[in-house]
Amino acid sequence: MTTPPTHARAVIVGGIIGLSTAYHLAREGWSEIVVLEANKLTSGSTWHAAGLVGQLRNSANITRLLGHSVELYKRLEEETGQATGWRQTGGLRLACTQDRFTELKRQATVAHSFGLDMDILSPREALDLWPAMQIDDVIGAAWLPSDGQTNPSDTSMALAIGARRAGVTIIEDCPVTGIRVEKGRATGVTTAQGVITCEAVVNCAGQWARELGNMAGVNVPLASMEHQYLVTEPIPGLPKDLPTMRDPDRRTYYKEEVGGLVMGGYEPNPEPWARDGIPEGFHFALLNSVWERFEQHMENAVARVPALETAGVKQLLNGPESFTPDGWFILGEAPEVRNFYVGAGFNAFGIASAGGAGKALAEWVAGGEPPMDLWAVDIRRFGQPHGDPAFVRTLTVEGCARHYDVAYPHVEHEAGRPLRVSPLYDRLDRAGAVFGAKLGWERANWFARDGEARSDEPNFGRPNWFDAVAREHRACRESAALFDASSFAKFLVTGRDAESALNWICANNVAREPGRVIYTQMLNAKGGIECDLTVTRLDEETFYIVTGTGFATHDADWIARHLPADGDTRLIDVTAAHAVLTLMGPRARDILSAVTQDDVSNAAIPFATCRTIRIAGAPVRAVRVTYVGELGWELHVPSDSAGAVFDAVTAAGEPHGLALAGYRAIESLRLEKGYRAWSSDIGPDHTPVEAGLAWACKTRSNIDFQGRTAVEKQLADGVAKQLACFTVDDPDVQLHGRETIFRNGEQIGWLTSGGHGHTVGKAIGYGYVRHSGIDRDYLSSGSYELEVATVRVPADLHLEALVDPANLRVKG
Ligand SMILES: Cc1cc2nc3c(=O)[nH]c(=O)nc-3n(C[C@H](O)[C@H](O)[C@H](O)COP(=O)(O)OP(=O)(O)OC[C@H]3O[C@@H](n4cnc5c(N)ncnc54)[C@H](O)[C@@H]3O)c2cc1C
Repeated sequence: MTTPPTHARAVIVGGIIGLSTAYHLAREGWSEIVVLEANKLTSGSTWHAAGLVGQLRNSANITRLLGHSVELYKRLEEETGQATGWRQTGGLRLACTQDRFTELKRQATVAHSFGLDMDILSPREALDLWPAMQIDDVIGAAWLPSDGQTNPSDTSMALAIGARRAGVTIIEDCPVTGIRVEKGRATGVTTAQGVITCEAVVNCAGQWARELGNMAGVNVPLASMEHQYLVTEPIPGLPKDLPTMRDPDRRTYYKEEVGGLVMGGYEPNPEPWARDGIPEGFHFALLNSVWERFEQHMENAVARVPALETAGVKQLLNGPESFTPDGWFILGEAPEVRNFYVGAGFNAFGIASAGGAGKALAEWVAGGEPPMDLWAVDIRRFGQPHGDPAFVRTLTVEGCARHYDVAYPHVEHEAGRPLRVSPLYDRLDRAGAVFGAKLGWERANWFARDGEARSDEPNFGRPNWFDAVAREHRACRESAALFDASSFAKFLVTGRDAESALNWICANNVAREPGRVIYTQMLNAKGGIECDLTVTRLDEETFYIVTGTGFATHDADWIARHLPADGDTRLIDVTAAHAVLTLMGPRARDILSAVTQDDVSNAAIPFATCRTIRIAGAPVRAVRVTYVGELGWELHVPSDSAGAVFDAVTAAGEPHGLALAGYRAIESLRLEKGYRAWSSDIGPDHTPVEAGLAWACKTRSNIDFQGRTAVEKQLADGVAKQLACFTVDDPDVQLHGRETIFRNGEQIGWLTSGGHGHTVGKAIGYGYVRHSGIDRDYLSSGSYELEVATVRVPADLHLEALVDPANLRVKG
């Protein structure tokens, strides 16, 4: 047995994901990489996976990662001499309802946007590819020819061989029993055979990743779930190279294996496992099969594949797998501990993901930052509530149960709610709010009036809240609207060095006089946008930072890791201390002046400034900014006074037509005004120059800031993509993002966000047009179409905001 070294550069714990990370980290030029496995390689979830390898996801970069898996699996056998069982069989997905068919067509367009071939087939064409099925209820199918299947254990072994050849040491039967953390950094691991000090610890421990994370004080929010599939004896006449097939309306999937079938499914009543921790010694182990739960799949499957009725059953396999609350895996450096990386929670697509996720994680470890925008899977998308395993499990169970539901836009999860509520929750509830959830917070999406159904009714067409959101939108444009934005994440950065530290982190100039509000991005060294937020200077040494609800962990982590270690700065989360009421619209000043004796004129509080005013006995920070393109204020209120301020403002607003409004109206309003949304329109892969935000960078000052060199280079040399706005006149077209953009008939990008603008009365989308040396002339000289659910529709391009491009209303 190999004796563990006393030092390594990286210690990686885990199965196929860990092996892939080691394989790729060695190719990043790292040496002294050690993989530790508590038992034998693949003894976790990997050995019993079914081995389907699908690629398409709703994120371009995650689809790209899965595409890398396919590329790798194609060549791994030749490279290592170890058979992997990889077969590019293609993947088929069936639709048995019109809504499902629409979903498939939307997915096909997403695939086209991301550069994957995906065809829509007739039932007959699907039958030709999968002759063993019956198609009476099938109305169409989608076909992804580059999908495939692989043998999980053999593929892992091939990765292990490839890693060893590149110098990686793999040690089996060597459980990690502790993680060393010194001054907030992981510095080593403890095993029964001694301590290994190291520069990076990589936790790819599958369903044990939560336990391993706990050893370092790191939260890895995943839950183990039972997952069953059936393996048949060979079925006479079954073609050898059947594509993998997913039949979501029957909740089942299929793969051909040695002349028989593997058939599994996702039941509406999934079963969590190991609530109190994984039992000792659970390696190469399975759970008891539960026929009662699997019967529903059997019934569905026999109707699809009649031969299953008589096929011999080799095994009904029940294996545990780790799932996450949102169905995306967990990747990246933990916000709690530096140099502690996680790659876990693979939601039954860990084999499909291993190649690409391992590569991305290896590059993250080697480069100290994600190699591209991986926000969808970034460990920092979680927050406070995800520290509670019961909350995580509740959401995860619901996610598994809905795995094969039609993916309608705007669907909210229902489990684990309500959890975090604003002090105004009861008032909004009484006013008819229909809530959504973000990072555990209940947030009003829209308000139903008497006679309107008080719930979202999902569909692909005009949603049932369309008129309500139009009403709230119009109120905001024509009179005033009040939004509860209390879930905003809020931080203080304080200290003698706060100004210089923040001015390095922020692209805009925050060294302004107290009372100034600065909209800014925070950039990485490549100029990519890591955060998009406002900074309000309260006094010489205090800055108040406000950012989106979902970015609380991410933005705090980004700021904290860029504050100077030797400076006098502190970052304090004050989210819970302040409720936020956003009062917006042409009558906002009339309303505000009716509830305060303080001067709220343009002279007293010009745009982009902040003053403390008194409302209902409370000191309220009135921050003059907007995300909807109207005159207005964010009113930051001590939480204990939120109710009194709300009552005063709503009473004063009544004669002015003030309406309560929700997040769906905000989205419609901001699309019209062209305000960018971080995580869709802007992110680490996009720079301010590409996103039309160069005006918010202090390049004309002599103050240096992170990303400045990259921004200046782009300003001088030009860019290869630029964010543009599109509208579609056809009232039947709904845009949701990821629709393909065509210019003069040529594919040149995809939408990053989409929705409906109720002032302009059109569908609106934003997306990057990609072309080397792109400029306004190139953009405005083209003729544009968008592919929406595989159909091309004419679109108009706009380079100015659709509403109030001169900002007259905002500055009003
Ligand atoms: C029934 C079933 C079917 C599936 N089908 C598919 C499919 O068709 N396609 C697909 O892509 N995915 C599928 N999956 C999912 C896939 O199996 C997993 O996502 C994948 O195997 C996860 O790999 P991993 O490396 O993260 O975890 P694991 O394979 O579980 O590896 C983690 C390893 O870490 C080791 N470990 C844990 N703690 C320690 C410690 N303290 N010290 C040292 N070592 C430790 C464990 O022993 C284990 O070997 C399926 C899963 C199940 C259950």
